[in-house]
Amino acid sequence: MYIDVCVQQNFIGFDQVYTYSTKLGRNDLFLGQRVKVPFGKKILMGIILAIDVENTSGFEAKEILGTFEDQVFLPRDLMVLAEKMSEKYFIGPFTSLAYILPPSNGQGIFYDQGEFKVENLPDLNRYGYLEGQGKNPSQEKVLNLLKSQGPLLKSEILDRLDISASPVQTLIKNGVIGPVKEEKTCQPPQVLTPDQERAYQEFYQDQSLETLLFGVTGSGKTELYLHWAQDCIERGQKVLIILPEIALTPQMVERVQARFGSRTSVMHSKLTDSQRKLEWTRMRNGQVDILVGARSGIFAPMENLGLIILDEEQEASYQYHQSLRYDVREVAKMRSEITGTRLVYGSATPEVSLFYRAKKGDIKLIQLKNRIMDRPLARVHLVDMREELSTGNLSILSNVLHQKIQNTLSRGKQVILFLNRRGYSNFISCRHCGTAIRCDSCDISMNYHKTIHRLRCHYCGSTKPLPKTCPVCGSKLIKPFGVGTQQVEELVKNLFPQAKVHRMDRDTTNKKETYFSLYEDMKNRKIDILIGTQMLAKGLDFEHVTLVGILAADTSLFISDYKAQEQCYSLLTQVSGRSGRGKDPGEVVLQTYNPDNYAIKTACQGDYQDFYDMEIKQRQAYDYPPFKKLISIQLTGPDKEEVYEATRNFYRDLTGATRTLHLVGTKIIENPKIKNKYTFKFQLKSNKADLALLRDSLEWVFKKHMKENKGKIYIDIIFER
Ligand code: ADP
Ligand code: ZN
Ligand code: ZN
Repeated sequence: MYIDVCVQQNFIGFDQVYTYSTKLGRNDLFLGQRVKVPFGKKILMGIILAIDVENTSGFEAKEILGTFEDQVFLPRDLMVLAEKMSEKYFIGPFTSLAYILPPSNGQGIFYDQGEFKVENLPDLNRYGYLEGQGKNPSQEKVLNLLKSQGPLLKSEILDRLDISASPVQTLIKNGVIGPVKEEKTCQPPQVLTPDQERAYQEFYQDQSLETLLFGVTGSGKTELYLHWAQDCIERGQKVLIILPEIALTPQMVERVQARFGSRTSVMHSKLTDSQRKLEWTRMRNGQVDILVGARSGIFAPMENLGLIILDEEQEASYQYHQSLRYDVREVAKMRSEITGTRLVYGSATPEVSLFYRAKKGDIKLIQLKNRIMDRPLARVHLVDMREELSTGNLSILSNVLHQKIQNTLSRGKQVILFLNRRGYSNFISCRHCGTAIRCDSCDISMNYHKTIHRLRCHYCGSTKPLPKTCPVCGSKLIKPFGVGTQQVEELVKNLFPQAKVHRMDRDTTNKKETYFSLYEDMKNRKIDILIGTQMLAKGLDFEHVTLVGILAADTSLFISDYKAQEQCYSLLTQVSGRSGRGKDPGEVVLQTYNPDNYAIKTACQGDYQDFYDMEIKQRQAYDYPPFKKLISIQLTGPDKEEVYEATRNFYRDLTGATRTLHLVGTKIIENPKIKNKYTFKFQLKSNKADLALLRDSLEWVFKKHMKENKGKIYIDIIFER
């Protein structure tokens, strides 16, 4: 019998399907099963994609050497998903399966040259305290942990205590601890408010595959997710809740666990491979009803999915970047279509393209209009930093903010100061009138490039000299923008010497421990002023924070992207939402040089609809999504000349292949060097009608180039939604 097998090859992104023969019978094999195959002079791992096929290769098929015995096999729908992903993203089947399969041996995928280990299934029992005493300090530690925390998995015990396995083994052998039965659901659901109740019912009025749940932070979206999830679980189906990594906070996890008990699984990037595998196995074995996970959670190996929830739908981390060749939201939609599972997007600030579809009626729109208990949104004070300047205050803290920090501290409340790090220091703006230099044809902010000492547009590649004076007001104060969180920390410590100040950003919170301890310290009010970047924006819910200061709201406006306004609106809304989460009303001070910008203005008023109405007009005027498709082709590699050459060839081949298509904005642009890798890119706009043709040409050119450059250059094709 012949089988089709995809084989792991040297470089990711371009792998193929080969036909092998086997003496095994149909019953010994299953789709997604991993097999050892001879490949040239090597032995490689492959994955079965089809069984009992014809050999159409024209060669005599080689025989497989055997199968893996650990029986990691995928639910049928994930096999189909892998296939669809390969088609959609032009990646080989092995590559898309590599995203889906659980990790092993510290690699993304099970493969060890020469030696094939049989992996033992992990111990899924929860151990609890039974009776007796520990005989040494390590054993006592284990007992204390179990007495205070309740039953835990063996791996959890070892993880938390950082001890060897032997004290645990001894305790089990002596019968002091032992496996205990899982206890069921704990905390009952909240009674829904009338607004929530209406939204809850609306969901069941039809069976739309896609639904957007649109409501401000604190309107009770999460509570609704949990209600729908509960319905699903009661029907015997499974639930996925996908959140952006940074929103996967202890609070969120506690909330779901409190509702669904030990039949919950949590997956985020800080898990070790063995923890990840353990969770994978639990899900595969049907021991999990609901997963709360970051983006790879969309590949959870659960059968009989009843509901997929994608929270914070607008979040940029769901989109392709570097190692991510797919868009989580698209994959969620594919999975939902394959299995007929309903998909709910939740957001306070939906992506403009998605809201457009919802308004058109392509997807179901459910709105939550009020906040729970009519808790007011924080009051936002807009501070025009240009006026500060004219009164002689050159500090990054306005007088208003300074005053309010003082008041907040004297009332024993907490302050969050937010500084956006993205996009700054390489854009030029006028301190006097707020003007930033934009590209005439693309309407996006131009970036300052040191090497050429000019401004450049990321989309069309055109450049302009650096202005000496502001083209609008003539001021000389037009220069690169840039303050770091460290500088803010120093300043704040000087101004408020009695306050406990802490900084939270990528530099200070690389480790899981620091993030969690920071979170605990904040909760226990061991910090008075927390300074941070994007990491602060999501999910964190501190009762005693009554003041949020946004130091430079403008910075996010100047990201070189057509979505800059949308992202600015979303970020400001989220950051403002950190204030006044408890009983005390919150305040926000928003400092800006652009008080008239519509994203900033509407964010202050908390009016998404107003923002949307203005943004969608801009999109139409400049032919951006959702009106036209925007596609970026990006090539990255270590040798600048080679990458440039390859990009030119790609461009030439593509324009050759798509002569009849209307391509817009086609100039090759150099991106800043990152980690000694050079990136060149160009962008295309396409009518939706032409897209299918364009996709075909793209696929052809992409595959040709992948083959030619043999993995030396990484090619990204990004389809904006
Ligand atoms: P969102 O996800 O929209 O931010 P949440 O579901 O987190 O909103 O709700 C905000 C707060 O209100 C949470 O503290 C939550 O526990 C509480 N809450 C939500 N729904 C109810 C309800 N029906 N009754 C009482 N409290 C609720
Ligand atoms: Zn100016
Ligand atoms: Zn341009």
